[in-house]
Amino acid sequence: MLMLSERQQIVDYGLKMIRSGLTTGSGGNLSILSPADNLIAISPSGIDYAAVTVADVVVVDRAGQKVEGERKPSSELGFHLALYAARNEITSVVHTHSVYATTLACLHWELPAVHYLIAFSGDKVPLAPYATFGSDELAANIIASIGSYNAVLLANHGLVAVGKDMKNCFNVAEEIELVARIYYQTKSLGQPVLVDAEEMKKVVMKFNSYGQQD
Ligand SMILES: [Zn+2]
Repeated sequence: MLMLSERQQIVDYGLKMIRSGLTTGSGGNLSILSPADNLIAISPSGIDYAAVTVADVVVVDRAGQKVEGERKPSSELGFHLALYAARNEITSVVHTHSVYATTLACLHWELPAVHYLIAFSGDKVPLAPYATFGSDELAANIIASIGSYNAVLLANHGLVAVGKDMKNCFNVAEEIELVARIYYQTKSLGQPVLVDAEEMKKVVMKFNSYGQQD
């Protein structure tokens, strides 16, 4: 079976995604690129994460042609492929409908630097304009908006995170959901005080040079 260890990670992190409340049902999706094989393992479309097995994970080439697997790949395959094409340094993509990030996305807000952990994305999380799920237009909007950030909010939809590996990528999705929740709560109580731009530059540099921080 091609990409067995990556397929196992898709199964494991799919379960993590549902158990940590980052998504519900079969919502959201995740993929891993193997640079050695030049192939991508992606979660199947419409199967509950608890029921997904390694055989259900679909392997496609970089053009999206199925190479191995019986299932249909995630309906968001298009933006996963577009992200791997646009960002050489990434090998993982996670897409969630996590509640607080999605709340901000439904207001068409970006997520600003309300907490230094925003550095998991950069100095903010940008917003991609709305387009129908699974469409080429959505993929184009994501690429235009994410730039070199590691996360992007999708208007009226959810969140996309990218990373150098699945562990890192999942961390980005989790930490950005935390910051989104903090932002929501601070906005509910008063006017959040943002970390200033100079300080965020420092934090982002520290994240880049020392890896992920606790
Ligand atoms: Zn979605």
